[in-house]
Amino acid sequence: MKILVANIGSTSIKWRLFDCSNSAERLLHKGGFERVTDYPKAIEDCLAELKQANAIASESELSAVGFKTVIAKNVTGCVRLDDRVLQAMADYNGLAPAHNPPYITGIKLFAQRMPGVPLIALFETAFHQFAPEASQRYAVPQTWLDIGVRRWGFHGASHKFIAERSAELLCRPDVAERARQLYVNNGAAKISGAPLRVVSCHLGGSSSVTGILNGASIGTSMGMSPQSGLPQNNRVGDLDAEALPYVVKTLGISIEEAQRQLTKEGGLKGLSGISNDIRDIGEAAQKGDAKAKLALDAYVASARHWIGSYFLQLNGADAIVFTAGIGENRADMRAAICANLGNLGIKIDAEKNNSTRATEAVISAADSAVKIFVIPTNEELVVARETKRFLETKKN
Ligand code: ADP
Repeated sequence: MKILVANIGSTSIKWRLFDCSNSAERLLHKGGFERVTDYPKAIEDCLAELKQANAIASESELSAVGFKTVIAKNVTGCVRLDDRVLQAMADYNGLAPAHNPPYITGIKLFAQRMPGVPLIALFETAFHQFAPEASQRYAVPQTWLDIGVRRWGFHGASHKFIAERSAELLCRPDVAERARQLYVNNGAAKISGAPLRVVSCHLGGSSSVTGILNGASIGTSMGMSPQSGLPQNNRVGDLDAEALPYVVKTLGISIEEAQRQLTKEGGLKGLSGISNDIRDIGEAAQKGDAKAKLALDAYVASARHWIGSYFLQLNGADAIVFTAGIGENRADMRAAICANLGNLGIKIDAEKNNSTRATEAVISAADSAVKIFVIPTNEELVVARETKRFLETKKN
């Protein structure tokens, strides 16, 4: 069973092809194109690369194409991409303007190009759907809730991967299995041992922190849109709701321009005034740039704020996990986030931390009550697994 996972951005397409014939999935091919202007050609070129690499002889060999879609109105989980789901995604274009429109365009092109191949979506909101209602709600009137104003949460594929893998590393196969089966039994499965508590820190171009109890999300830092929680690369993160009308009135700009600034000129870029990339900001901070240093400090403070929130709600943690571009590669940020937490039983081992880059590792000190892991995420694998399960269990 060959499943292609396509990651579609506004100017890029990346893919991974998995052989999911048995439980140990094999990565057959991965590739991608940046600065795409002609999507039909990019899809054609992707198929040509797969054939050239002998990964497939023809597209009819694909059992499905899976997509890590972001958000849709009244739709979550793993679903077949039909007109109804595409319309539900379009209904929420405004909440994920960088992601939903290119996905909808790309998915329609895949449907035209290979009408016989099922197209399956795993929404990024899926992992958080079983979190307690209280952690999903904003304190807004019922009429707001009725039109979808609530915390949906994102990075679901990544946090789900971390839920499974951290449970394996903590020698809890019962919890790993519960996490794996989450969408089969709607989060209802029980575990046999003590509660397993993990704080998953997906720190990358966009960042979120999730509390995970027994393999399932209890809440996450991102809210109704990916425009919330920690400062993002160029998106604002958490912001007081009054700020928007205040800025519109005081600066005399339109709401659309204010939104553009929040999504393009905010976050680490806004704070530092230098770049949306932590590598550039880190370099500038080292040379003594005060705004760059402040941007890093604000990012660390926000990460600690959210980790602290879930540490309390989980009654402590068995593990804190760092993943994604910053979490996997930036020892300096991991060290800053974990600094001076000895009273909470959180102690990083400086040497192990400094020598860990983009590999799976334990970076906590031997006497740390809380394990600290670096785990490279594998979102595409989660999409491939759920797509396979969808094909095997659902006939719609
Ligand atoms: P996304 O997938 O959301 O675009 P990533 O998870 O790739 O983001 O993370 C991007 C961020 O991670 C950037 O701030 C970048 O500086 C940092 N990053 C990515 N790769 C590396 C690396 N090899 N070394 C240092 N920082 C990195």
